Formats: sequence, structure tokens, C-alpha cells
Amino acid sequence: MPELPEVEVTRRSFAAAIQGARVTGLRLGKPLRWPLGVDPEVLLGSQVGSVQRRGKYLWLPLENSGGLLMHLGMSGSLAFLDATPAPGAHDHFDLHTDRGLLRLTDPRRFGAVVWAEALDADPVATLLGGLGLEPFDERFDGAHLHAALSGRRVAIKQALLAGDIVVGAGNIYACESLFMAGIDPRLPAGKLSRPRADRLAAAVRQVIGQALEAGGTTLRDFRDAHGVAGSFQMQAQVYGREGEPCRRCGTAIRRIVQGQRSTFFCPSCQKR
Ligand SMILES: [Zn+2]
Repeated sequence: MPELPEVEVTRRSFAAAIQGARVTGLRLGKPLRWPLGVDPEVLLGSQVGSVQRRGKYLWLPLENSGGLLMHLGMSGSLAFLDATPAPGAHDHFDLHTDRGLLRLTDPRRFGAVVWAEALDADPVATLLGGLGLEPFDERFDGAHLHAALSGRRVAIKQALLAGDIVVGAGNIYACESLFMAGIDPRLPAGKLSRPRADRLAAAVRQVIGQALEAGGTTLRDFRDAHGVAGSFQMQAQVYGREGEPCRRCGTAIRRIVQGQRSTFFCPSCQKR
């Protein structure tokens, strides 16, 4: 599933090219996760502004016509194309502009494109309302993390995955961050000490930052808007490495299931 780094890499791959373009047409394929919520005719002629990202959502502002909130779901990818190839079976949203075609390809159709008058107007405001801080927001630090985890009995891995404290620590990055911080993923969240919260907040930023530099992951079939595969999986310390030796201590990496998601960790390096 595309995670925050992939979404940010996608944003960077087309934001400059599409800014200032005018909408010349819109084509909808099969239904996505949520309806568009606007008559496409209304958007014709409007100019695309600066594409922003919040969590795993992209916001495409349209001058005088609100904007489009886009989500890649489980299997989506966005590409901004110079040409206008005929839509394939999995191409369910096309935004035609005078500078090219923005196309959402999404085989599983959990992705979405939703219109709203503004970022703080529904349905967009509701969709974004429960999101935690951005990992590179200066307010996200050990103190914030420690306070937010206080009293939570859920395992620390699942508290990170929930996304209501900090966004971006999806399954891969949660596993990698906990390894980097030396924390057992099963530790009850509320028991994380303040010094360890400091280390974990720093690890989350570092792991997500590394993934961004590497162009996102290729653990599924992610491609950015130019069709370039990311390379973060080459650097994974624990994710997807069950039974392989820990790169730090040589102990076999373990896999367990938490909340129906696989967790990978080193039973020696990561402590309760
Ligand atoms: Zn180890």
C-alpha cells in the first residue's frame, strides 16, 4: 500500500508541472472509494494551484472551484502524462489539463478523488480531521509522543500505526522505527518512558526521511508519476526479513501478527 513517503514522492513528481495548468476535461471510470461530489462541468477552465500533502492525502487546489482531495488507497498510483493514452481497465480518474493528463490507476479501487470547496470544508475536513501531526512538524517530538501515548494500553506498534498521533508511520516504517529506537513492538504504549519516546520520535523522522530520499518503497507495486520504482526496501533492517540475521546483532528476525498486520523485529535489540 502506498505510504506517506510514496505519496510525497508522487506529489513532488508532478506538483511543479501541473501548477498553473487549466482543467480541460474530467473522466471518471468505475466508482472509487467515495464519490467525486461535484458536477465535473463546474471544474472546467479552473487553474490548478500548488499541490499539497496531508498524511497520505494530496490536495489539488482549483482556483475559484475548491479543490480535489486524492488518496491512492491500497494500490493506486498517480501519473502526470504529456500524452493522452486511452484509459486502461484500471484507470478510474483522468483530469485533463492544457499541460497534460493527471491519471489515477487503481486496480483495487480503494483510492478516491473527492471534491470540496476548501480544505476546511466537508467532506475533506472530516477525512483529514483525525490525522496526527506530520513527522517533520516541529511540534512532533518526544514530549508530544510521550504525552499522547499516556494511558494507552495498546501495543506501541499499533499506537504508531493508528496515525492519530503522528502520520506516516505505516507498517513498514513503524517496524523500522521501533527497531532503530530499540523498542519491543509489543510494549504497552503507555509504558514508554520519556527518554525512549525521544528516541522513537527521532527514529520515526529518520526512517521516513530516509524513505523520502530513497524515493519511497517498492514493497508493493508502487511507481511514482514517472514510473520510477523506489529503493527503500533495499535498506530495510527488519521489515520482510523473518528468519534472516539482524544486521546489528545476528539474531534471527522474528515476525508476529499485531492487529492483523505483520510485525518484524529483533528479539535481542528491541526491549520491553
Ligand atoms: Zn538485533
